[in-house]
Amino acid sequence: MEDNGGLSSRGCFLMIETLFTQALGLVAPWQVDEVIFKPENGRIDFEVRFGAAVHACPACGAAAQPLHDRLARSWRHLDFFQYEAHLHAEVPRVACAGCGKVTQVAVPWAREGSRFTLLFEALTLMLAPTMSVLAAGRLLRVRSRRLWRVINHHVGRARDQESHARVRAIGVDETASKRGQTYISVFYDLDAQRLLFATPGRDKATLGKFASDLRAHGGQPTAITHVSMDMSGSFQAGAAEHFPAADVCFDRFHVVALSSKALDEVRRAEVKSAPELKGTRWGLHKKPADWTVKQTDTMHWLQRSNLKTARAWRIKQALRSIYATATTPDEANPLLKRWLSWASRCRLEPFKRLGRTISKHLPGVLNGFHPGKHNGRVEAMNRALQEARARARGYRRVENFIAMAYLIAGKLTHLPASPFAPFLPVPHETT
Ligand SMILES: [Zn+2]
Repeated sequence: MEDNGGLSSRGCFLMIETLFTQALGLVAPWQVDEVIFKPENGRIDFEVRFGAAVHACPACGAAAQPLHDRLARSWRHLDFFQYEAHLHAEVPRVACAGCGKVTQVAVPWAREGSRFTLLFEALTLMLAPTMSVLAAGRLLRVRSRRLWRVINHHVGRARDQESHARVRAIGVDETASKRGQTYISVFYDLDAQRLLFATPGRDKATLGKFASDLRAHGGQPTAITHVSMDMSGSFQAGAAEHFPAADVCFDRFHVVALSSKALDEVRRAEVKSAPELKGTRWGLHKKPADWTVKQTDTMHWLQRSNLKTARAWRIKQALRSIYATATTPDEANPLLKRWLSWASRCRLEPFKRLGRTISKHLPGVLNGFHPGKHNGRVEAMNRALQEARARARGYRRVENFIAMAYLIAGKLTHLPASPFAPFLPVPHETT
């Protein structure tokens, strides 16, 4: 720029265009040709020009091919302050003498077919998991349906590039995309603590679908050493068929949940003859450390009573404390056997039944004591998915919930870089 020292209006314009060329990250031969700023319309428009007469053929790579024609296109870009920014360019098509094809030149700021720049899309990917797509749409003044298209595209593309070759221990859990809706099975890598796969359903075939997806990402079902899950028969059958080399580990959360259910059964049956049990439910299910003063009083009263519910609570707490103390299957084995003998003699049918269930699945229940081979490691991720669902007030489309789940818990490494990457700890490209 020869006259950038002067204050002539021409010099000033040149400076502005150069500045915006840099701000938009454009490199030659692309440059900002004109900036049209209309504050009254709340927008700023950039005319971007392709300043070369030849270009390499995008199809075959032949250098310096003549331009055939230009097609006008527009993209929404990141706002400049409160002003909506739009890029406009006439994108050239190359008529190649080498391969004979007419091919459109790719623009460096947007992917093919998108009406948004990549930075705008990256911002969408950053905002959506922290608010909701609806809220992000309001903030960006874009219909959420269009944002979902952006999210689904980038999540799908990023997932395609993920390698699952090193996966050894997996955890299966279930969640719902909407209150009271069909279940979604979620499969986690327990070591890397990331979501590998999510799919509707929770039957034997679900594990088959996961096995195929694992293979598609370079993993080997026979290399899986541990599968952590609940005691559902269909999951067990699926694990035996699709992950024959894996130790099945029954997840502690589910085992303890079964004992809470047994306790509820005892209390519900007894409350008819002992109405003073009304209002004890929450205290019974909380950790003693979390009791309120009132709950502490109630629980002390309960323990001095001769009620079956008090006994049931002690048995449940004993099971819970085995999980709190034992750190290996060997440590858990004698404790669990003592507990099973107590349960079998306790004269409380729900606990006798639970004892029989645990005895029947004892090897898997003991495997659940392998350090790190239980779903406790991915609980925070499950919670994050539930929070996202609550923020969205449920997902109308299962596919959208699954895409959001990958975005939140998938630790995807091939998403477009965030426009604020240097300032915020968000996922960005590592390669
Ligand atoms: Zn060509």
